[in-house]
Amino acid sequence: MRLLKLMPILPLALAACVSSPPERPVGISFGLMAADKPVACGEAILGLGTAGSSAKLSDARFYVHDVELIGRDGKRVPVTLSRNDWQYGGVALLDFENGTGACRGTPGTNTKLTGLVPEGDYRGLAFVIGVPVTGHDEGKAVRLNHSNPTATPAPLDLVAMGWTWLAGRKFVKIELDPEKGVSKQSGRPAPTWNFHLGSTGCSGDPVKGEAIACTNPNRIPVVLSNFNSDTQQVVLDLKQLFANTDIEKDGGMALGCMSGVDDPDCPGIFGQIGLNMKETPSGAGNAGRINGDGTNSRIFRAETKR
Ligand code: CA
Repeated sequence: MRLLKLMPILPLALAACVSSPPERPVGISFGLMAADKPVACGEAILGLGTAGSSAKLSDARFYVHDVELIGRDGKRVPVTLSRNDWQYGGVALLDFENGTGACRGTPGTNTKLTGLVPEGDYRGLAFVIGVPVTGHDEGKAVRLNHSNPTATPAPLDLVAMGWTWLAGRKFVKIELDPEKGVSKQSGRPAPTWNFHLGSTGCSGDPVKGEAIACTNPNRIPVVLSNFNSDTQQVVLDLKQLFANTDIEKDGGMALGCMSGVDDPDCPGIFGQIGLNMKETPSGAGNAGRINGDGTNSRIFRAETKR
C-alpha cells in the first residue's frame, strides 16, 4: 500500500534530478561617467579630450551581447537576456540619452540588462559591445547585425542606430557638442563631434541572403574580473574614451570618427578602446579586433552603484 502511494511521485522526482539547475533573475546596471561625474543630457561635461573641452551630450547609446557571469572557478555562465523592448535575440541596447537638452535621440532610456542565470556564486562579468552576426529567437537562428531595421524587432529597429544592411548596426553612438563647436578642415564650423563604431570592410549581399564577411568586426569584448551585480555597476568613462582626441577639431573624412580605417580622427579613440584599426603587424589578421582578452579595458570599469 505504502509503495503504491509513492509510485506516482517517483517519475516526478527523477525528472527534477535530471533537469537544469534552478535559475534566478539577475540585473546588470550600467552608468555613463566622465571620470567621477555622472553624464546627463543638458549638463556640461568638463575637461574632455586633449583640448580640455567643455561639451554637452548629444547622443549615447550602445549595443551589448554575449553577457556572461564568471564563477569563482573562472567558468563563464551565459546570462539569458529577457525579451523586452530593449533586448532581443541575446542583444541589448543601453541608452543614456532622453531627447532633452542637446540630446537628439528618443525619450526612453535603458541602463540595465535583465535576465536569468543558474544559481551560483559569481565574482565577475563578461560582455561584448556590438551586435553579433546571428542570434536566436525562440531557438531559431536569426540574422541580427545585417538585417532590415524596419523588419527586425526592437531594439534592432532603430534606423538611427544603423548604416546600411551591408554595413549593419552602429554598435556605439556617442555624440558630443563642444561649447566652442568643431572646426572642420574646410574652416567651416560644425556643432557635433560624432563617434560611431560598427563593422567595416563588409562584403556579401544581405538582401539576397548571402553570408556577410567584414574585414574589421570592431566588436569589443570586455571582462571585469571582479564584479558584483548587486552592489556594482559597469561604467563607461567618456574621459578615458576621448583622452587622446581633440573634440573641437575634425581632421577630415567623416565628422568625428565613424570607424573609417583612414579617418585621422579614429586612431585616438581606437587606441583607448584597444582596437586595432589595421593589421598590426601586417598579415596578423587582427584588424578590427582588440589586443588582449578584454580584461585590460581603459574605458569600462566596475564601481559601486550610485
Ligand atoms: Ca574625421
